Amino acid sequence: LFITLEGADGAGKTTQGALLAQAFRKLGFSVVETREPGGTPVSEAARRVLLDPSLTGMAPMAEVFLYAAARAQLVTEVIQPALAAGAVVICDRFIDSTLAYQGFGRGLPMERLEAINRMATEGLTPDLTLLLDIDTEEGLQRARRRPEQAEWQGADRMEREAAAFHQRVRRGFLELAKKEPERVRRIPAGGAVAEVHCRLIDAARALAPS
Ligand code: C5P
Ligand code: MG
Repeated sequence: LFITLEGADGAGKTTQGALLAQAFRKLGFSVVETREPGGTPVSEAARRVLLDPSLTGMAPMAEVFLYAAARAQLVTEVIQPALAAGAVVICDRFIDSTLAYQGFGRGLPMERLEAINRMATEGLTPDLTLLLDIDTEEGLQRARRRPEQAEWQGADRMEREAAAFHQRVRRGFLELAKKEPERVRRIPAGGAVAEVHCRLIDAARALAPS
């Protein structure tokens, strides 16, 4: 079972991913948690390049290929072996982030991004994608308060994009949920952590009725 969490910066993907993993473990599943871009040494190195705000002027297609490279390594090294071993894999961001950020956000052609995604993943698609949807400003404010962001003085390269960019990304995610309603479930991400967790559990349950 392959579950991905998607949504804007500061929507709570990391927090909710950890809680979801805990819930599956309590049910006796073996769970592998990972994130994008990152999750392997090679992919984490690509992440540092991608998020470094001092690297201004990165060409949009260079950005796409760096995310794709990080993804290819993660799929090969972590996700495929874990799925083959029968684990539940929970991944913080995956193919939909490319469509939302580089497609809707940067305006690159969708067909190309879809082709690149297929190459990077060898066609692996999540069984369920939980889209944590939050007001753009609220999300960015939450993201900037995160302690691990201290490295980038409060905002990484992507988070420094204009508000209009982030609004396009949010609308993009919502479009993706509309296009593939079976796979991509929109979860309102405002409110208490426990409340949002319950919404995720409900969505996961709908996937595998027991
Ligand atoms: O850990 P987090 O998800 O915040 O870090 C990934 C960063 O990369 C985010 O700031 C997000 O805006 C950006 N991103 C992107 N395009 C992707 C995936 C992530 O711009 N395809
Ligand atoms: Mg972020």
